[in-house]
Formats: sequence, structure tokens, C-alpha cells
Amino acid sequence: MSLSSLVRFAQQQISRQQLIHDRQIPPPAYSRLPQEVMEPSTVGDEPTISRSEIPVWLRNPASEIVPFEEGMIPEFETDESIAVTRLTDVLSGTFQKVGLFPDALAYYLPYHFYADGVWGIYVWAKGIVELACQIKGSTITRTDVAELLAAQSLLLDHEYFHSLTEAAATRAEIVTQSPIYHPYFHDKRSATHEEAMSNGHAYRQLVKINKSFGGAVGSWMDRQGVGYRDFRTFLKNRMFIKGRNECGRNIVGNSPPGRAVGSLPCGFLFKGHSRVAVPTYLVVEEEIAPFVYKRFQKFNDMAIRVHSREHPPPHFHIEMPPGVERTRYIWPELQPMKGDRKLSHKEEDRLREYLARFGAEIHSRLARVYSAHSLTVPPLHLENREI
Ligand SMILES: [Zn+2]
Repeated sequence: MSLSSLVRFAQQQISRQQLIHDRQIPPPAYSRLPQEVMEPSTVGDEPTISRSEIPVWLRNPASEIVPFEEGMIPEFETDESIAVTRLTDVLSGTFQKVGLFPDALAYYLPYHFYADGVWGIYVWAKGIVELACQIKGSTITRTDVAELLAAQSLLLDHEYFHSLTEAAATRAEIVTQSPIYHPYFHDKRSATHEEAMSNGHAYRQLVKINKSFGGAVGSWMDRQGVGYRDFRTFLKNRMFIKGRNECGRNIVGNSPPGRAVGSLPCGFLFKGHSRVAVPTYLVVEEEIAPFVYKRFQKFNDMAIRVHSREHPPPHFHIEMPPGVERTRYIWPELQPMKGDRKLSHKEEDRLREYLARFGAEIHSRLARVYSAHSLTVPPLHLENREI
């Protein structure tokens, strides 16, 4: 079952007309009817937390909200030394202010409470930079792309697990035809466990891509609050599956009337959607705009990058497929750099198609990077050809 049909069911059959259209408004409170009161939990005095509040940066109406596409990468646009100075200014003191945990740097607004166009994952651009500094152990520079990408996917994956949990609750709602996510959302023990699992999931994904950051990220998470810091329990495959089962039981346990769920196998609720199915946004404040995100244009299974600080001659990097650097070509001659490989005829056709779309933008970017050169624009039209 697709995520969109789960969303439609939850919004139309469960939430009805109560959807919120404003990111600044917190999720509605929930009070149980007396007959819904659950059996007192046998776990008893384990510490629990409430859901974290909507962060200030998400409530700031001046922030720009940009749809995030897979493949977008954080990048400094300005001269490196300026970027670092400005960045240090921007970051000074903010660690204390926002607190060090994922939901202060990214946030998930559930579709049970928020309308289409509002619900989804929000990532704070400045938060990515902060976390990247945390991972590196010092201020990052333009070249620390690996740290920035790790920080970005860590935050995305944490919030993605929240979204998987909401979808799991929706599946239970379809079976019972009654609201479950709402009471589950406000249940502190469930929320605490969900944070541990979200961090566990994010950590597991991170070390798959880049093992070397595991230590720094692990100690960052160790310093977080109750729930968050319990991620280590769920790192092994077997334990993660167990933890997901428990998440499922917390969901089922919140179906009215509350019933003891014992050791019911509930992990099946989690057969999930992919992260790209979840609407995702970047929240960008004006002061960070100079460092931020250029769309990593993908088209024809290729992408072109222009690095902000490069040696002459003016050139661009060609990735085929996106993410895999194939060669570098000189602008505007469209010939390989000395020693770099030449594309095949077929590949050059693809390059021409790409440039017919994005050539003007690439040219103006190159003109900025190589401002000492006076660059001409190569012919970018495709003759006798339909795009
Ligand atoms: Zn979280």
C-alpha cells in the first residue's frame, strides 16, 4: 500500500476536518476517554520524555522553505575564507541555544495533524552545518562535503523513522477503523522508545555509508537526552527488529480500548515506504543563504558540477551517473581537460542535451568562479532535435 493512500485514509477517515495548515501550530492535545485508560504499564519507573516542541527556526516566518530533492548537496557558494568567517559568526553560541539532539535540527510534522503541503520532514540548513561541525570536531570548510552529507542524511534518516512509525500506526488504524496515532503520539513511553529507534536507524544507515563517522556521531548521540541516547540498544540487526516490534506493540497498545499487548508480534506494521516518498523541505534563513544548497541537477542520468574554487582553465565536472565523476570538460570549448578522458559520441549527445537545458545557468556560474576570464557561451541549442 502506497504512502499516499495511507495519508488519504488517515486524513479523511481518522483526522477528518482537523488538519492544521500552519507549521507554527503545535499538534493537538489528546485526552483519553475514561474507558480508554490503559492498564498501568509494568515497565513502571523508566524515565520518559514528551515529544519535542516545534523548533524556533521552523516557526520563524522569515525562513525560506525549499523543497528538498534527493541529491541536493550543501555547498559553499562564496569564497572559502569568507564562508568560514561568516559561518563562525553564525554558529557562535547556537549549540547551547538549540540543544544537541536531532529534533532540534530537523523535525517531522505528521500527516495526521497537518494538511498536504505542510506535513513532512523539515531539515534546518544551519542545523546540517552545525552537525557537520560536530562530526568533524571543528569548524567545517567548503571542502568538508563528506561531513555535510553525513550530517544531512543522519537528520533525514532520524525524521524518516518518525514517518515510518506514523505509517505503521495508520496500518493499525485501517484494521481497527479508529484513531491510534493521536494517543500514541502523546504517550510518553512510546515517544521515548521511538526516539531511541529513530537515532538507532539513523546511526545504522550512517555507518553503512561512512563508517569513519560512527565514533563522532555515536558520542554525539550518547550526550543526548533520555530516549535519544538509548540508540545503542538497537544497533544490531536482531535488536533493531525487536525494537521495531516494540514500537508496533506501543501502537497497538494505544488502540481503544487499551488492551495488554503482551508479546504480540507487531513489527509487520513497519513494511514501509521509501524516504523519497515523504515530502521533505529545507529551512533556510537569510544569514545562511550564502552557504547553501545548489540543486545538484540530474538529467539524462548525468549531472554537472562547477566547483566554487578551481584552477584554470575554466571547466566543469561531469558525473555519469550522478555521483560518479566521469571526466572534466573545458568551457566553452567543450573538450576534455588535458589528461582527462573524452566522452563517447553517445555520451556527448547526452551532454549536449544537458547543456541545452542547464547551459545558461552553468555559464553564469562559471563566469562567477572564473571572473578573471572573459568566458563566451558555447552553442547550446540542439539542432534538428527534440528534447
Ligand atoms: Zn526524533
